[in-house]
Amino acid sequence: MRIAFFGVGHMGGPMAANLVKAGHEVLAFDLVPALLQEAVNAGASAADSPKQAVENAEVVISMLPSGAAAKGLYLGDDGILDAIGQDSLIIDCSTIDAATARELAGAAADSGRVMIDAPVSGGVGGAKAGTLTFICGGPEDAVERARAVLECMGSKIFRAGDNGAGQVAKICNNMLLAVHMIGTAEALQLGVDHGLDPKVLSDIMFASSGRNWSLEVYNPWPGVMEGVPSSNDYQGGFGVNLMNKDLGLALEAALASKSATPMGALAKSLYGLHANAGNGGLDFSSIQRFFKHRDE
Ligand code: NAD
Repeated sequence: MRIAFFGVGHMGGPMAANLVKAGHEVLAFDLVPALLQEAVNAGASAADSPKQAVENAEVVISMLPSGAAAKGLYLGDDGILDAIGQDSLIIDCSTIDAATARELAGAAADSGRVMIDAPVSGGVGGAKAGTLTFICGGPEDAVERARAVLECMGSKIFRAGDNGAGQVAKICNNMLLAVHMIGTAEALQLGVDHGLDPKVLSDIMFASSGRNWSLEVYNPWPGVMEGVPSSNDYQGGFGVNLMNKDLGLALEAALASKSATPMGALAKSLYGLHANAGNGGLDFSSIQRFFKHRDE
């Protein structure tokens, strides 16, 4: 298939490369020429302009940093929506607010086109390995149509509901992830403060009712687990700034639905303070450092 791909950054770059590997013709576009060149090195073609990228494209995929960027790309002054073929399928994989996702899908539908939201879970490692989880929102037949393309980049594909539902499910998950990461970090610090070995305590909690994903595959205490960001000075992984963005989206959604999310609000405050202390570029498990005694 001929696929237009917008945003070949940390996630979009390897995703586009996996589409190439699966035999698709990928026309890439990014605002950063060096990233576009990397996509070309991986076998994609560089489009001269956003509109040229979507010419004759059967599928259009975007992987952008924000709702504003996605809205600008599709509906901005020189937006691409009207240049996309009527039979093309539009898949926005960016993590953005559900309201913007619905607005974009609505504009697409009004012009006779089909768009789904398909934010991902799995991080840069999952993007490279082609094992991402796609959390889709949109009409059932459109999600089914997207499946063949998404399977080139991921191993699990869910349909959460109608347009915007993918974004809601994604931020619910990431809000819970932030909460259990913070809980895991403070429990580990408490145990260590009382002389426990963090590895032994992790094993005990993992085998007990405190078990959670952070303990299982992403332990935040340096040295407890190999191959995770905490054992690499919190480099790589999923950044504090991105977690902050997702928590902001969760709180915006909570405001819109008048939902009570006190733990999510606290997590947002803690990650905000952690980012303001200069840790925005570190992996989100670095929240462990937040609990460290400064008098040591
Ligand atoms: P990134 O900043 O590395 O990549 C985004 C790319 O989009 C950049 O290269 C930027 O130049 C490009 N861009 C912005 N506006 C554009 C436009 N109008 N046209 C073409 N390109 C444009 O970000 P990322 O880490 O790849 O994340 C992308 C999305 O995936 C975000 O919404 C993020 O929340 C989500 N996400 C990231 C991770 C992760 O671990 N990095 C995990 C899950 C989801």
